[in-house]
Amino acid sequence: MVPSRQRVVASIIGILLLVVSSFAAAAPKITVALDATEAPRKIFHARMTIPVTPGTLTLYYPKWIPGEHGPTGPIQDLAGLRFTANGQPLQWRRDLLDGWTIHVEVPKGISSIDATLDFISPAGPGGIYTGGANATDKMAVISWNTVLLYPAGFSSDDLTYTASLRLPAGWKFGTSLQVTTQSGEQIQFAPVSLTMLVDSPVISGQYFRTVPLTSGQTPPAEMNIAADSAAALDAPPEVWDGYKNLVTQTGILFGARHYRDYHFVFSLSDHVAHFGLEHHESNDSRVDERTMIDPEKRLLEAGLLTHEYVHSWNGKYRRPADLATSDYEKPMQTDLLWVYEGLTSYLGDVLSGRSGIRTPEQFRDSVAAIAASLDNLPGRSWRNLQDTADGVPAMQGAPSSWESWRRDLDYYDEDVLNWLWVDTIIRQQTQGKKSIDDFCHIFYGEPGGPPMVKTYTFDDVVNALNQVAAYDWRGFWTEHLTNHGPGAPLGGIQASGWKLVYDENRSELAKATEGDRHYINASYSIGLELHDDGSVIDTIEGSPAAKAGVGPGMKIVAVNGRHFSEDVFRDALHAAKETANPIELIVENTEYYKTYKIDYHGGERYPHLVRDESKPDTLSEIIRAR
Ligand SMILES: [Zn+2]
Repeated sequence: MVPSRQRVVASIIGILLLVVSSFAAAAPKITVALDATEAPRKIFHARMTIPVTPGTLTLYYPKWIPGEHGPTGPIQDLAGLRFTANGQPLQWRRDLLDGWTIHVEVPKGISSIDATLDFISPAGPGGIYTGGANATDKMAVISWNTVLLYPAGFSSDDLTYTASLRLPAGWKFGTSLQVTTQSGEQIQFAPVSLTMLVDSPVISGQYFRTVPLTSGQTPPAEMNIAADSAAALDAPPEVWDGYKNLVTQTGILFGARHYRDYHFVFSLSDHVAHFGLEHHESNDSRVDERTMIDPEKRLLEAGLLTHEYVHSWNGKYRRPADLATSDYEKPMQTDLLWVYEGLTSYLGDVLSGRSGIRTPEQFRDSVAAIAASLDNLPGRSWRNLQDTADGVPAMQGAPSSWESWRRDLDYYDEDVLNWLWVDTIIRQQTQGKKSIDDFCHIFYGEPGGPPMVKTYTFDDVVNALNQVAAYDWRGFWTEHLTNHGPGAPLGGIQASGWKLVYDENRSELAKATEGDRHYINASYSIGLELHDDGSVIDTIEGSPAAKAGVGPGMKIVAVNGRHFSEDVFRDALHAAKETANPIELIVENTEYYKTYKIDYHGGERYPHLVRDESKPDTLSEIIRAR
């Protein structure tokens, strides 16, 4: 309630706002024509027509990109910017306080201007998310936020964009945008809000495959895959069956869908940036070229599409209120990413098991890998889990050196463990009658339909959990977000009938991770992460290697007097169990060589989950297909 004097003032303001808004300019309808015919050269040419009024026009290049959790709009790759009115060039200047803001002087008598701009896509590594490499000789992904500007003063929901696209000869495409006309490689899309345009990437390429994931059901879902070779598209049928199961199992988990039709926009290329980015009616996921035809690579990416698909519910439909901004210039606040990303990771992993994309053992190996890395994390002592979420807009793109001390984006993985714990508490509190699935129905379920955003706060999450099972959820989450350990939150693993243990055997997942990424994970033994040429990616602070003086950026050139190789290094760890002598490393550091003696005798150590027979196997029940 508002006290009476303020109520009168409020009502006067309300009337004034009504009067002002009835005279406010209608949001302009903008066209953007994108020429992607030079995609293999990694340059995209856009031409926009923007209705204007005379005076200074302020335009923004999208800066805070939904799902990227930071000011990552690739302004450094905007080039060739020119404005004209009736064919005459117009003056423009970049804002002195914000590099994503452009001011254009519009003369009297002008009602529309043309803007031309190029997006120069990074060639090779560099740039993150949609600002990373997006094109090869054979394919491209178009993220509309990279190829347009929008006028200040309007919400992205209110601005209407009519987009068209010209592709290289012979390239096919897929997108959740509605196509109105197509003539060869020239495609015209139906008008949509700027919000939906930025939310609807287009994938295109010479080697292109569409895989239907629903047979007759509504709403439909399909994969639109572009690859750098025809061979990369030729996965065995059971691979696609897993993703058909995913669509079914996810529908059962939530009880409703918040899209009209869904597109997995999926890139198979070694030359585009690798990530997954969620959208309401699609996801833009990019992995190695041979991922779908190589079982090892498939295992490594088994959680990617499941995660991104869950985001249609958690992140797009339901979104933290302070992440749901009205345009791309306003900063986002990331404090609730433990729900947005953390719960998405948990549910994505659960669905990878329910759909058969991961076997139960592969699912457990993935949980063990997460648990071990977080259970041996010195950075926890100074930085709590909440801060890993709060800090992300400023800290994205941090290098992997010193990661164990800096901490990574731990609200993804650590919240897999926390939400598993929540799932087991719900089951305990309700004598097995309810689970996280009931929370999903309440929070993300009916009625379903076309994309919309329903925001939430910390209190909304706590209240919905209490609707499922009465418990001190506020206390649970406050403790889990702010504690400093020691160790990871392993209560969910334990309550679901399993234990985290270490032995000398690498799991299938550990072997695949080290083999594919050409690295050696000795984090849980000597305390080193190495490239397979011996260069040190990270040391675990407090570990034997760190205590001996080894640090990131150094390079091990010899182990116990013999030239470094992966086998020589592993043999030395193993042999150290039988001797009191330290392991001797000759290490190069900024052109100097030194010998480090490491007093370690524990052999190789790799994490696994093993059954605790004193408790029921709830973990297997959690990932059983519904
Ligand atoms: Zn995510």
